[in-house]
Amino acid sequence: MVKMNNTKDLEKLHEKHLQYRSRCLNLIASENYSTPKVRSYLASDFGNRYGCYETLKPEEREYTGNRYIHEFEMATHDLVRDVFKADYVDLRPIGGHMAGMATVLGLTDPGDLVFEVSMADWGHGLVGPMRTIEHLEKTIRVKNLPYDHNQKLEVEKAVEMIDAYKPRLIIFGGSGTLFADPIKEIMNRTRHLDETFFAYDASHVTGLIAGGVFKNPLDQGVDIVFGSTHKSFPGPQGGMILSRKEKPFRLVGDALSPALVTSHHLNRLPAFAASLLEMKEYGHDYSKQVIRNARRLGAELDKRGIKVIAAEEGYTDSHILLIDVDEFGSSREISTGLEEDNILLSDDFGQSGREIRLGTPEITRRGMKENDMVAVADILAKGIKGEISGEELRERVAELVGKFDSFEYGFPGRASEDFSG
Ligand SMILES: *Cc1c(COP(=O)(O)O)cnc(C)c1O
Repeated sequence: MVKMNNTKDLEKLHEKHLQYRSRCLNLIASENYSTPKVRSYLASDFGNRYGCYETLKPEEREYTGNRYIHEFEMATHDLVRDVFKADYVDLRPIGGHMAGMATVLGLTDPGDLVFEVSMADWGHGLVGPMRTIEHLEKTIRVKNLPYDHNQKLEVEKAVEMIDAYKPRLIIFGGSGTLFADPIKEIMNRTRHLDETFFAYDASHVTGLIAGGVFKNPLDQGVDIVFGSTHKSFPGPQGGMILSRKEKPFRLVGDALSPALVTSHHLNRLPAFAASLLEMKEYGHDYSKQVIRNARRLGAELDKRGIKVIAAEEGYTDSHILLIDVDEFGSSREISTGLEEDNILLSDDFGQSGREIRLGTPEITRRGMKENDMVAVADILAKGIKGEISGEELRERVAELVGKFDSFEYGFPGRASEDFSG
């Protein structure tokens, strides 16, 4: 293990990370590349301040010294309102997971039933993992929403289940979302259940919603949208809660704070505000390109004998592709094998043991277009099938990513400046 005796040591180790990541082809769907400008704001003084407030009274800060922090946070809320077409905004969750926990805890009573996407269908695992804590295992019940082999929601089955079980809360959205769910239709057909809350976990698709290329669940009528600010949305790591309805918004915010969070890491605010401005300017073009790249990558992998999920549905309407690698080995073996060759992707964490998830946000930000997906698919297919040596694979990866040192859809600056620290 490395020992850090002085700041030179930590700088050296950090530099190694930057160099390493600059050689990698990053297809992790939940990561993205923030521009140097966005990153620079994370070093703000805000990161050492407290800005606690009660959900509907942000103007009454618990700490003194918040004059400009308050102005800044409210102005950032306004940007979020504009970009996501929300009326109520909460940026206090540190990540999407915490925003989801607050949603579950705020919108249910002890003993209530929650529907969520199963981990076998690439759900994130929100209520499931919460229930590994005995307190919560005893008080929250969970069932999974039905998805078919193309990762499309089975509407008839879902409506039947909702009618039969009358869940208190339904959370759509997951970590392998390929298509938008017909939530409006389901809400219309279960309207008689007026005690049921509808939420959407948009952690993965916030960037696509911001870009206007993925259905905004608020337009479909859900009570709460929550999610991350750093997946398809290229901001700093963080979470958010959005709504058009005061009551569920207040319930969720009051579960969030002060029970789950008190210092809300205010230095995320200027970085997130900058990325919101960036998305206002470039978000539509960026998110269109993300989807074009994902679909082309799907087609090129398909051509090369890799089984892509939902091929008959056009592969995907999002930044995500799911592939089935069972013919060539287990998903874990293949993903850890490719990691050795500087290709980064996600396996399914032992769910089916055969699916791998690929995402196009970061490579799109780094400037890759549809035609570049031919090279990406070729490298991936050869790597998955074990057709070329590790050394050759690493060389081809280095050659490809080396061509994309600049980035697009963001404020000016060169990636290499950032990668050199
Ligand atoms: C990533 C993810 C989360 C967790 O978000 P963090 O920002 O990592 O806390 C929650 N839900 C889904 C569907 C996710 O993919």
